[in-house]
Amino acid sequence: MKVERRQFEVRGIVQGVGFRPFVYRLALSHGLKGFVRNESSCVRIDVEGDSAALDSFEALLPDSAPPLARISGITSRDLKPAAYHDFRIEESGRKGETISQVPPDAATCEACVSELFDPADRRFGYPFINCTDCGPRYTIILSVPYDRPFTTMAGFRMCPDCRKEYENPSDRRFHAQPNACRDCGPSLRLCSPDGSDLRSPNPPADAAAALAALRIAAVKGIGGFHLACDARSAAAVARLRERKKREEKPFAVMARDMQAVERIAVASSREKALLRSPERPIVLLRKKDGGGIAESVAPGNRFLGVMMPYSPLHHLLLSSGPEALVMTSGNLSDEPIAFGNDEALSRLGGIADVFLLHDRDIETPADDSVSRVVAGRAMVLRRSRGYVPAPVFLESDGPDVIGLGADLKNTVCVCRGNAAFLSQHLGDLENLKAREGFAQAARRLIRLLDARPAIVAHDMHPGYASSRHAAVFAGAARIPVQHHHAHVASVMAENMLEGRVIGVAFDGTGFGTDGTIWGGEFLVAGYEGFERAAHFRTVRMPGSDAAARQGWRMALSHANDALGDRGLGLAASTAPDAQSAEIAAAMMKSGLNSPWTSSLGRLFDAVAAVCGIRTCSSFEGQAAMALEGAASDEPCEPLPFAFEDKDGRLEIDTRPLFAEVCRRAAARVPAAEISRSFHDSITDATVQTCLRIGSRFMLDRVALSGGCFQNALLLDSCLQRLANAGFKVYSHCLVPPNDGGISLGQVAVVRGILRFPRTK
Ligand SMILES: [Zn+2]
Ligand SMILES: [Zn+2]
Ligand SMILES: [Zn+2]
Repeated sequence: MKVERRQFEVRGIVQGVGFRPFVYRLALSHGLKGFVRNESSCVRIDVEGDSAALDSFEALLPDSAPPLARISGITSRDLKPAAYHDFRIEESGRKGETISQVPPDAATCEACVSELFDPADRRFGYPFINCTDCGPRYTIILSVPYDRPFTTMAGFRMCPDCRKEYENPSDRRFHAQPNACRDCGPSLRLCSPDGSDLRSPNPPADAAAALAALRIAAVKGIGGFHLACDARSAAAVARLRERKKREEKPFAVMARDMQAVERIAVASSREKALLRSPERPIVLLRKKDGGGIAESVAPGNRFLGVMMPYSPLHHLLLSSGPEALVMTSGNLSDEPIAFGNDEALSRLGGIADVFLLHDRDIETPADDSVSRVVAGRAMVLRRSRGYVPAPVFLESDGPDVIGLGADLKNTVCVCRGNAAFLSQHLGDLENLKAREGFAQAARRLIRLLDARPAIVAHDMHPGYASSRHAAVFAGAARIPVQHHHAHVASVMAENMLEGRVIGVAFDGTGFGTDGTIWGGEFLVAGYEGFERAAHFRTVRMPGSDAAARQGWRMALSHANDALGDRGLGLAASTAPDAQSAEIAAAMMKSGLNSPWTSSLGRLFDAVAAVCGIRTCSSFEGQAAMALEGAASDEPCEPLPFAFEDKDGRLEIDTRPLFAEVCRRAAARVPAAEISRSFHDSITDATVQTCLRIGSRFMLDRVALSGGCFQNALLLDSCLQRLANAGFKVYSHCLVPPNDGGISLGQVAVVRGILRFPRTK
């Protein structure tokens, strides 16, 4: 037999996901010798043996990799045989060399779920069962390398049985850091709101019984606490809304299994795959009429956020209680999620009737992620538990950079080498607790990655808390990045686009280079810079920030812009009262506290108000979501719009469009039809604008970003119609189109400037 030797470098998410034991088993089964080792940016495999065995090994390597591995590339080369004696897993390199070793949390795998419900298994009913393919990771890691002593499992000493599994490379629990059993691992307890132990012999079953009796439970999960109640009970949901001080924002529902999902919502095969994925996000699904979920769970909403159990505790809870539970972040209104036992008791004591606690600490809080399938592709809307901190790989290397994001739906992003690591969703920074969480998350990400950011990128908005935070990084250069440029760069980065594209950035608000508020932008952009080629017509925002929540103000503004005083008269009925309408109109005319905006998000708000769908929003994007939900499934008569050339910059004139919306609303055309016409006309305007820009700048690639593209109707039609018009179209998949992706865009812009310095 002729011995050959081959060395492989495997890149992607291949560390901390059971990849080395998999390689070990694969090598042994092929009679190969050599080693496998984690290195800074790859896993290195060195094997020698029979050439046919090497070929088979090479073929199986990508295809039979563990479920959590994401291989982005494998290179191989032949070397002179080294006469290895055996095959071994070598220890990983130095600290800081193992940057991608922090894996995301993964939902309980099928093998563990069947053991959980197998009376013969030693972990029958044990709520902390896990293995190499599943379990908590990011949320329990204290520092790198990812090893048990550096996790919140450090205090639990493995019993001999668990240790045997942990040390055996052919065991499913080999090096599963949170490995535990009832004898040696964490345990549950059921408590009353004052913290006293209820001494339940079976906490999940008793909590489930409390839920079935329509009580509210606080349940400690993977990334923090949930507040749970029976999703089928209007009374229970009403009580939760009242205590949590959350009036209308939809709650997510956790359903026992796929049958339970199908009873309450419509799910395509792609959506089902997403529901079952190891990331296990909340997936926005079309609600089923008569599905039994209380209307108040997602009031006035055609969509329902649904997820499947992702921790053993969830499986146990749902196996005996109601088959669909509201599972909403354990917090009060807009505060960050609670994740410590004492903290939860004090913060949620007035909300929950019982507390299901455990003693495995959560080091880093992470909310549930939210995803949606559009045009057959998954798009993440809130990137948190399950996805974080898996990196987004960029096209090229560069120095360490941190992007501080925007003030809404904040995330931070640290880029090392060609890997951009986004933090978990950190929420809106208006709130002190959220700002503390943001500062802490930035520090922690830097520490975990052992990064030394030479440059801090932040939003151009001078008033943003995230922008002000840049001062904390003494010695680092600061680069402000325009908000919509960052949006476009984020979608370019995740699609690895180089050169210039037509960037379409539609959102609610972002500080423009001219001091006005942008949000309906067409940028001819590369990473290093951009030109504002076109935008929606600029109108007043009477009351400034108040106009973002009170769509009737934008209705007045657009009506006044389109039809003058007659328009004001038509739209006045959307205001809460005549006096408010008069004050807003006067503000607008004098310009007092009424900045200019080209925001498409605000135009959605205005249309929703005039159609009678929603005149005020209790949370960001509510009116736009309602407008999307109301749209007819059938195409309707389009609305007119016009173009105006303003010194070489194109302006989409919304006056004819808005005048026609007012006319149809006054003529009592159904809101469903107006909404559909409006969506289609915005798509139309987008396609026509891109055609004009494309021919002027010789560009044929369009990149779509911004919060408005969370709207499936708008995104789907833009994708289709731009492609039909001959464009290559790119949209988001890995990071959110909303401001959750801004930090990635900031980092990509800075890297671009470093490679191609801006020329003035
Ligand atoms: Zn497992
Ligand atoms: Zn044990
Ligand atoms: Zn934005």
